[in-house]
Amino acid sequence: MLQDLYREIILDHYAHPRNRGKLEGADIAVEGVNPSCGDEISLYARVRDGRLEEVRFEGRGCSISQASASMMTEAVKGKSLDAAHELAEEFKAMMHGQVPDEGRLGDLVALQGVRRFPVRIKCATLAWVALQQGLREYAAGRPARVVASSEDEL
Ligand code: ZN
Repeated sequence: MLQDLYREIILDHYAHPRNRGKLEGADIAVEGVNPSCGDEISLYARVRDGRLEEVRFEGRGCSISQASASMMTEAVKGKSLDAAHELAEEFKAMMHGQVPDEGRLGDLVALQGVRRFPVRIKCATLAWVALQQGLREYAAGRPARVVASSEDEL
């Protein structure tokens, strides 16, 4: 069953988060909060030559929020800042009902099942909203460390 496969992917990322930890001297550092569920993540990234050379996160909260953060770090690591922003847009569009392009979203499509539980959508989008906020701050030349909330998702 596809749903079982999706659940396995999510639980695997929750149990064994990828790119977890703090990044010293990060160019991008964002605190993401999802008040409706109590999820928190700290997202860090190092930018080199217009690419996300390193991406890490720390956090606590429900399995969806933490698995999504883990999957996000894997998906955007090595990507250009523009490509990372576009992927975030695509991911959010999927979470809001658009049919995903599996070629581009890969394993991230596992999270689309969360759409059946509207209250959890903000858990899944938290890391991505934080990423986009961090990219905006970086592009504006503002210092790292900002707070983003998936409550006011753009
Ligand atoms: Zn949550």
